[in-house]
Amino acid sequence: DSGHVKIEDNPKILSGPVLTNSPNAVLSKTLLGRYNDLTIPADRILATYVWIDGTGEHMRCKDRTLNFIPKVSKDLPVWNFDGSSTGQADGHNSDTFLVPRAMYKDPFRRGNHVLVMCDTFKYNMEPTESNHRVKCQEAYDICKDDEPWFGIEQEYILLDSDLRPFGWPPGGCPPPQGPYYCGVGANKVFARDLVEAHYRCCLYAGVPISGTNAEVMPSQWEFQVGPSVGVTAGDDLWVARYILHRLAEEYGVIVSFDPKPVQDWNGSGAHTNFSTKKMREENGIIEIEKAIDKLSKVHMKHIKVYDPRGGKDNERRLTGLHETASINDFSAGVASRASSIRIPRAVAEEKKGYLEDRRPASNCDPYAVVDALMRTCILNE
Ligand code: ADP
Ligand code: MN
Ligand code: MN
Ligand code: MN
Ligand code: MN
Repeated sequence: DSGHVKIEDNPKILSGPVLTNSPNAVLSKTLLGRYNDLTIPADRILATYVWIDGTGEHMRCKDRTLNFIPKVSKDLPVWNFDGSSTGQADGHNSDTFLVPRAMYKDPFRRGNHVLVMCDTFKYNMEPTESNHRVKCQEAYDICKDDEPWFGIEQEYILLDSDLRPFGWPPGGCPPPQGPYYCGVGANKVFARDLVEAHYRCCLYAGVPISGTNAEVMPSQWEFQVGPSVGVTAGDDLWVARYILHRLAEEYGVIVSFDPKPVQDWNGSGAHTNFSTKKMREENGIIEIEKAIDKLSKVHMKHIKVYDPRGGKDNERRLTGLHETASINDFSAGVASRASSIRIPRAVAEEKKGYLEDRRPASNCDPYAVVDALMRTCILNE
């Protein structure tokens, strides 16, 4: 007996409908090819507006046709949607505004078509509750000159349509973790072609993916975005998540950013690597240590914004086991994966670079994380 919890005992995994096959998985993948090459008038640009819904965790999108080629996000019109259907407004006053903030090339439609990352505003133009971008932009505007960079490691798992990890044996777990991290081989990693498609789509779109790897649990993967500057780190990561969800539709699998999908296996995080101009300069280690000292004084404040449920999600993940530090304690260390903050070995040796905040959960809102890091470490709030 491996001592691992059987999957049947895990209500998280068993909740939800049990389907034998995703309807998307069995649809023809070639039929659309008959229509994809239909000529669309050159002055008709399809724009997919993407936004974060009222959960602060899930995404929505809708499409519109433009009659011009947008050059920057400011060219794009403000739009609206029914906020009562997304947990962002009441039914009797439901129009909610979408304000375009960042534009990417559309890897699905290509040509001049675009993906548009938006944030959301109520009828009175106040930000909606799940709009953390506004505050993040405000913080960034004040500390621009410090050049804050963020590189976020997005971990996630793939689920089959029965909501169990994709490729896991029926009714049980695969052999214990060990061989899967950065694994190679059909019994170690599942759905690499989805990961490869995502990598390429992101780079095409303009999302700066810096790398990708298989993770500790079978069907768990990671990609890294960045370094991106300030609030752009949030735009880039959200669009990378959108592209992943969208691609996974085609494969008939589900992307889960839940930070602890299966007990007794590694959870999923969104380690956030952070530096300022001073940290990257000679002897920047002094600045890094100053930042860690500031972070040590507001641990719980950060934990509250490092998942969409005020720390509740991270309670399941930051147990002190499985390469995490306890949610209740702040710690920092060189090369330590059991700390809240890790200073990478190479950074300690070169005495400059960046720190890694290992606390953000995989389903965090990067706008909130980036905002908190800038406010604590640069703005001294
Ligand atoms: P780990 O060893 O923790 O798995 P990864 O290689 O997965 O690290 O991710 C490292 C991340 O750090 C990447 O996203 C990279 O872009 C980012 N990064 C590198 N240098 C900096 C820097 N100076 N400031 C912020 N992020 C950085
Ligand atoms: Mn309608
Ligand atoms: Mn990593
Ligand atoms: Mn990882
Ligand atoms: Mn890491």
